[in-house]
Amino acid sequence: MLFSGKLNRLRNFALGLVFVGIVVMYIGYAAFAGYLGSLFQHNIIVMAIFLVLGFLFIIGSSIMYMWIGMLSTKAVQVYCPSCGKVTKVVGLKDECMFCRQKLSLDPKDASNID
Ligand SMILES: [Zn+2]
Repeated sequence: MLFSGKLNRLRNFALGLVFVGIVVMYIGYAAFAGYLGSLFQHNIIVMAIFLVLGFLFIIGSSIMYMWIGMLSTKAVQVYCPSCGKVTKVVGLKDECMFCRQKLSLDPKDASNID
């Protein structure tokens, strides 16, 4: 599979969002079970809020994955001049996912070497 710098970062973020959602839901359950003190114990409203919040994080992550997929199909495939592998450029500037070489599709950068 092919990833670019930006796509990789977005995917990592979406993956992190899933874990955040699970942790938030677990906190909700832990509060209900009384692990976080008696203040929240058997408080269904607090648990419901945490469960819905965690659920929203996971739904948000799924939507992000969908968006990343659409972004990925629109990304331009280029040969990285540094490592010779095929990578994808999202937007005008991105970095190679294999060697982190900065890549640009902007004609203004054509003569710049950095
Ligand atoms: Zn490269």
